Amino acid sequence: MSVAHYQGLDIPNHKERTRAQPISTIPSPPQFILPLNQHRGSTLIPCVNTGERVHKEQVIASPKNPLEANLHSPVSGTIIAIEPRPSAASISNETLSIVLANDFQDSSVPTMACLNWSALDSHQLCEQLAKGGIVGLGGASFSLARKLAAHPDHNINQLIINGVECEPFITCDDQLMREHAMEIIHGIQIIQLATKATHVTIAIESNKPEAIYAIQEALHSLNNLDIALRIIESTYPSGDEGQLITKVTGLELPSGKLPAEIGVIVSNVSTIYACSRWILHSEPLISRIVTVTGQCISNPGNYLVQIGTPIEHILQHCGATLTSKQKLIIGGAMMGQTLPHSNFPLTKAINCIILSDDRELKTETVEQPCIRCGECAQACPAQLLPQLLLTYSKQGNSDALTELGLYDCIECGNCDYLCPSNIQLATRFRAAKRKT
Ligand code: SF4
Ligand code: SF4
Repeated sequence: MSVAHYQGLDIPNHKERTRAQPISTIPSPPQFILPLNQHRGSTLIPCVNTGERVHKEQVIASPKNPLEANLHSPVSGTIIAIEPRPSAASISNETLSIVLANDFQDSSVPTMACLNWSALDSHQLCEQLAKGGIVGLGGASFSLARKLAAHPDHNINQLIINGVECEPFITCDDQLMREHAMEIIHGIQIIQLATKATHVTIAIESNKPEAIYAIQEALHSLNNLDIALRIIESTYPSGDEGQLITKVTGLELPSGKLPAEIGVIVSNVSTIYACSRWILHSEPLISRIVTVTGQCISNPGNYLVQIGTPIEHILQHCGATLTSKQKLIIGGAMMGQTLPHSNFPLTKAINCIILSDDRELKTETVEQPCIRCGECAQACPAQLLPQLLLTYSKQGNSDALTELGLYDCIECGNCDYLCPSNIQLATRFRAAKRKT
């Protein structure tokens, strides 16, 4: 089966609870926890000490590589510890984190105002994006600057702005496009300059008519813009990078290749919006929009939340407390991860928090033996054989796993969703990738 002909799954989207909920703000907590592994790449190095006072938006940790993203203080206050704490980027191990006591003064120092961004060359623009702490906010959390700068030898023909948001439960990108379409278009102009892309396409799933309308209106009001809008059929996982490239360009992303190697860059609408806030308004990435939803949340919605806010604080604000019968998931029901407790902080990568129980999601899944039904292979958008990958992951046979395409697994969770034996295939594949 060709990737181009993969139809995707028609699964319940569970978006009704938060769809069309205007973005509101969760008040600052008294204490923030800021893990130093906010994005994929090397761990950040703190540039503050315990006991030091910091201002809002001050850089508190920076990378060795100038193309990786800074970490900024979300509020003013005092650093009370730099020590290992739980982090969703590495659930089984604690991660060195900066712990900040909020003084509720919000005192800030002026940050860079990039007054003439259009005069910068690609490399200078990328460095500015890294200074602003911009990482991919669609879940992958790569440093945006590093992603954009990774293509100096390739001509970028297509810049694809991903507003598909196919993952069930999540509506933060939908709401962002409805409320901030013009800023997204301005952000696209910045990234187009950084990539020198000749064609730009915004892709939005067909089940978001209000977002489509808002983007269309913004494009019309800025006529002469050569930006195409592409409506993508609503199936899962149509927003996956490889799937989307094929849908928009007809190209297939070869195994092991980066999109830039076939002349394409894909970036999420939330990331583009963050670029616009930083380059045009000098606001570094200290907060993001998060969908908080699920059967056990009294006040579900799309919230602007400061990075480092404890998930416990977010749940309290939304009228919920985690109990032993519930399941706490970050990042979506299909591709997300289950957290063992709520003492994790919000990191830049977390776009959704779900608190649910067995009325809505399987909270207890006792795995049964594989019955070789083949459902998992039928559902795999990467054309893998999950049943065989399962066998070799149990054996720890990394050579066979690599040969069978483990690294092409996009961790979409389709195989888990359809498996009649409740086998958590995607979770195993994620773990196997980290080991091999
Ligand atoms: S769907 Fe589950 S039971 Fe069926 S072949 Fe795949 S792993 Fe085995
Ligand atoms: S999680 Fe991986 S193996 Fe399973 S369906 Fe998705 S791409 Fe295929």
